[in-house]
Amino acid sequence: MSEMKILYYPHEILTTPAQAVGNVDDEIRKLLDDMAETMYLNKGLGLAGNQVGLLKRLVCIDIPEDEEQGIKATGLLQMVNPRIVESEGEVEFQEGCLSFPGLYIDVPRAAKVTFEYLDRNGKLQTVHADGLLSVAVQHEIDHTNGVVFIDRLTPKARKRALRDYERAKRKLGIN
Ligand SMILES: [Zn+2]
Repeated sequence: MSEMKILYYPHEILTTPAQAVGNVDDEIRKLLDDMAETMYLNKGLGLAGNQVGLLKRLVCIDIPEDEEQGIKATGLLQMVNPRIVESEGEVEFQEGCLSFPGLYIDVPRAAKVTFEYLDRNGKLQTVHADGLLSVAVQHEIDHTNGVVFIDRLTPKARKRALRDYERAKRKLGIN
């Protein structure tokens, strides 16, 4: 496995919709494994293909258990062509994003979602999720559509988030 380079906003690939994957083959499995390694090395809970320069609809998520917050571990989810098929309710979580280092914002999302994806063997899986997994999968599927989390804010909150991001980048020494 090898680590991939994470793209930072405003890289144009982050705002470009990705293509559906036609065939789940060894090449796709290798990309999913490299993405998982990259996510772990950067201490992310999720990573989408766009974030490592791949315009393919690929997503990895691994949410660790947090007993205090009542969050169950998901284990590693490696998804091809994930999509939301149902959503309900509203929730706001504080989200971070590996493509926006140093920025943490409250983002409005659906509280519960049902999503589908092809697993690494090309088998269709359906998952009902709430809590952090629901939020994470919405965040990552947005990436595959070229949508980033600040796009979910009101225009005013988005402007503020961009200012905070510029400040965070300067602090971290990122251009
Ligand atoms: Zn993200």
